[in-house]
Amino acid sequence: MTKAPALNFCNKCSQPKDNMESAVIGDVYYENICADCLSDNHSIPLDGQFNREREREDYKKELIQPYKEGAINKDFVEAYPEEAKKMFSEQQLKEF
Ligand SMILES: [Zn+2]
Repeated sequence: MTKAPALNFCNKCSQPKDNMESAVIGDVYYENICADCLSDNHSIPLDGQFNREREREDYKKELIQPYKEGAINKDFVEAYPEEAKKMFSEQQLKEF
């Protein structure tokens, strides 16, 4: 009996694909991202607004992820307080 290949779901388009890579696009780290999204990474960002606003100023800064180990990344909040306010609720910001 052959085992069906495990399908991974692309973190970006949420489609099941079998060729996945890890990549950083904008300032988001995708553990699994398909080749389609990698080659066309400007068309379907769920957080497109966020990325567009940031693109202008962001290339010089080091990449900081909003989340770290499943929790709010303190470095992100400190580096981007305005963005953090948009992304997280006051309650969340108080708790970290
Ligand atoms: Zn994809």
